[in-house]
Amino acid sequence: MPEASNATRQIIQRNWDQVRGGVADACRAASRPSDDVLIVGVSKYVDAPLTMQLVAAGCHTLGENRPQALWPKQEYAESSLAASNSAVSWHMIGHLQRNKIRRTLPLIDCLHSLDSLRLATALSEEAQRIGIQLPTLVEVNVTRDESKTGLPASALPEFLEQASALPGLALQGLMAMSSRSAGGDEARREFAAVRQLRDELTARSGGQLTLPELSMGMSGDFREAIAEGATMVRIGSILWDGVLDG
Ligand SMILES: *Cc1c(COP(=O)(O)O)cnc(C)c1O
Repeated sequence: MPEASNATRQIIQRNWDQVRGGVADACRAASRPSDDVLIVGVSKYVDAPLTMQLVAAGCHTLGENRPQALWPKQEYAESSLAASNSAVSWHMIGHLQRNKIRRTLPLIDCLHSLDSLRLATALSEEAQRIGIQLPTLVEVNVTRDESKTGLPASALPEFLEQASALPGLALQGLMAMSSRSAGGDEARREFAAVRQLRDELTARSGGQLTLPELSMGMSGDFREAIAEGATMVRIGSILWDGVLDG
């Protein structure tokens, strides 16, 4: 990994500006305001100093998929931002093991990857203990791909009924990945299926549940995701173009 330098700072700034522009274009194409879509900058590919160059470029929401990587970066960010008014919001986008909950929960503003009732129960207990409401998205697998993570769509009605009764969890939406990281029609159909599933689930709950957030879309398929209603896109690789391979 290259060291953070003036050269990497410039590349990261350019990448961030391009991603913001790309998201704004996709919003315009879908007749949506661009502040409808939160860009979660996925920092899992780089170290803490490079991550902070992305923050300096303007990205204030960061996603990590491994708790052990999030912890030290959060600490680094906190100390390097202490003197400024700037802050970073951390989102956990990958699987969270129950034995990592205690250390992770106080550091994050959103969990995108709730995928079992056991995890939900443990999260609820810890959230109550420390007195927070954790914004949480349920990860759903709408692809036919067994290797993808998340709950099958058929399990969601019962899962949501149980999870929404747990104190400390604020269920705010669904997260999904397409089976086609390069985008295209199949990715778009899968994202549309996630939106329809969300609509059915909220209708079925008779207004008890609102699930306004849809976390879907990555570097290769965020345009399709935004066209189908994504409110959060999790973008990694294209932010580090020219940094990791150049
Ligand atoms: C790594 C990762 C991303 C980012 O994917 P890119 O294709 O690098 O943009 C998004 N979501 C999750 C869950 C990830 O693990």
